[in-house]
Amino acid sequence: MPNRVLVADDLSAEGIRILREAGLEVDVKVGLPPDALADLIGDYDALAVRSATKVTAKLLERAARLKVVGRAGVGVDNVDLDAATRRGVVVMNTPGGSSVTVAELTVAHILALARHVAQATASVKGGKWEKKRFQGRELAGKTLGVVGIGNIGSIVVNRCRAFGMRAVAYDPFISADAAARLGVTPVTLDELWAQADVVSLHVPLTEQTRNLVSADVLRRLRPGALLVNCARGGLVDEAALAEALAEGRLGGAAFDVFEKEPPAPDHPLLRSERFICTPHIGASTEEAQAAVAVGIAEQLAAYLAR
Ligand code: NAD
Repeated sequence: MPNRVLVADDLSAEGIRILREAGLEVDVKVGLPPDALADLIGDYDALAVRSATKVTAKLLERAARLKVVGRAGVGVDNVDLDAATRRGVVVMNTPGGSSVTVAELTVAHILALARHVAQATASVKGGKWEKKRFQGRELAGKTLGVVGIGNIGSIVVNRCRAFGMRAVAYDPFISADAAARLGVTPVTLDELWAQADVVSLHVPLTEQTRNLVSADVLRRLRPGALLVNCARGGLVDEAALAEALAEGRLGGAAFDVFEKEPPAPDHPLLRSERFICTPHIGASTEEAQAAVAVGIAEQLAAYLAR
């Protein structure tokens, strides 16, 4: 009997084709409510998801045949890894597939903050022509401080160095050799907060990184510093950031991710003129979605063919 794969979130057509050509029986059922998904999951050997489907312990309890969960993307926060491990279900992801795309959005946010692109667009559309108000800052010669130089952080460093920025980074798991190859100076977190004109976060959300940018850290950043979070909500104390922006201590902040998504309409950051954001679209380009779909399909097919 062929292995059966349930595709529960949007996966690009190329990914589905690879699964079918590998001889797998593929059902695409996107957007099922949790109960409906739980009623079906017992019939499948593999489950392919992006971020919308939550693979909870409760769902896994019903997944008698399930051997593998494939997450097309990087973060596996939507999968209960402990519960999967307890049940012997392998969890796979596609770590590099969307890195360039996420790095490009990060750079877009850095440039947009430095030159007030979003605020100036709103102003012109509102019938104004406020040239003085939107005087910006050049990135050349400034210091970029990257927390976490894995797949995405390294590409952000590479792109920003092309703008003439100097790069410093904190990542306890990277060697001095790798840092030298990237052209980045390894620093401690304290040094990073003190030196960076632009701080960009590229770490996973863990016990160590939750609230990494706390009220105390926000007080230690350089006056006028810019902060970008295209990694995970929860890395920044959002209430403290709203205060720092309101007091004019920071030049601006840009988020692609929030602690709670979507943020409440009365979230204090949404009222800040110095804050810009996107709705967790870091990996959302046609190219990245095709790459992660192909990546996860190939991995699932290879695993199920063993
Ligand atoms: P990665 O694993 O390649 O890199 C993460 C780096 O963080 C590693 O080098 C690791 O050594 C470092 N790190 C871990 N704990 C640390 C700590 N306590 N302090 C400093 N460094 C630490 O991951 P990546 O692919 O570069 O992804 C980075 C982040 O971007 C993740 O949070 C990921 O979930 C997020 N992401 C967001 C989107 C989006 O849509 N906005 C898309 C993809 C990934």
